[in-house]
Amino acid sequence: MTQRHSDPRVQRLLEKLDGLYEELKSDEHYEMTESVAYGHHDPFDIPTCICDACGEQPTMEMARSEPPRWSMVCRCGRKPPSVRKSQWQAMLEWNGINLASFDYRDLPLFGLSNLDAETGHKRLAGFRRNLELRYNIATLEGDIARMTQRSLGIEQPGKGYTRRLQAYLMWCLWGLRLTKLAKQKTKNES
Ligand SMILES: [Zn+2]
Repeated sequence: MTQRHSDPRVQRLLEKLDGLYEELKSDEHYEMTESVAYGHHDPFDIPTCICDACGEQPTMEMARSEPPRWSMVCRCGRKPPSVRKSQWQAMLEWNGINLASFDYRDLPLFGLSNLDAETGHKRLAGFRRNLELRYNIATLEGDIARMTQRSLGIEQPGKGYTRRLQAYLMWCLWGLRLTKLAKQKTKNES
């Protein structure tokens, strides 16, 4: 049951939170999520893919802003459209647009090494929704805890926890792009 709150902004967030928990606990969601064990690899330890355009290694660049923002840039001029708050985000963003040199089966997370592209893609799609739900819940609970000074018993999740979920989610989105590409390749070959 949704808790009531006199502040309509808090009330809206509580209702949203309730909806997310409902989906997280639903049978449908349970069935499409094989597991939440992604493997032992540290999600902040990120391989750097070479540039799809020229095959060179990109370098990390800091945007002159306060606080600083990051992006991976190649000498040929190729770079992602947006800059990021953290270097690890910039690395995953770069990998997500340079897919040619990396095989989804080599991802050190999510247990894809023995799966065909179709099965791997499905597995990742389940992970994705689960990660989105848990990440959105953590973010919402943080907002509610701040707005109510924790008076509802909703605590702000640890920063490390939320950041880790976000990292897994970005890995998962990268993996989905890789498996999508591999699926297309298989289709073209047959
Ligand atoms: Zn390049």
